[in-house]
Amino acid sequence: MTWDDHAMPCNHYRAAISARATGTPLPATVTESALDHHMTSCLSCGRWARHLTTLRAATDDLLRRRRPTEAPPEPV
Ligand SMILES: [Zn+2]
Repeated sequence: MTWDDHAMPCNHYRAAISARATGTPLPATVTESALDHHMTSCLSCGRWARHLTTLRAATDDLLRRRRPTEAPPEPV
């Protein structure tokens, strides 16, 4: 499969955006700078990235709040 720089579909970038949002390495085919460039030039991917980041932050916050700071009480 060959990807022309200008023919890279949004799907391809979105995999990288979601990888970045979850803290996993980007796909080998997408560089950080290519991704940044795409997000600034593609409105829908930019919006999607923000949505994903917000969602991710909300999930982290929820998990943090639900995670007990002390050992749970022993069942009787
Ligand atoms: Zn896009």
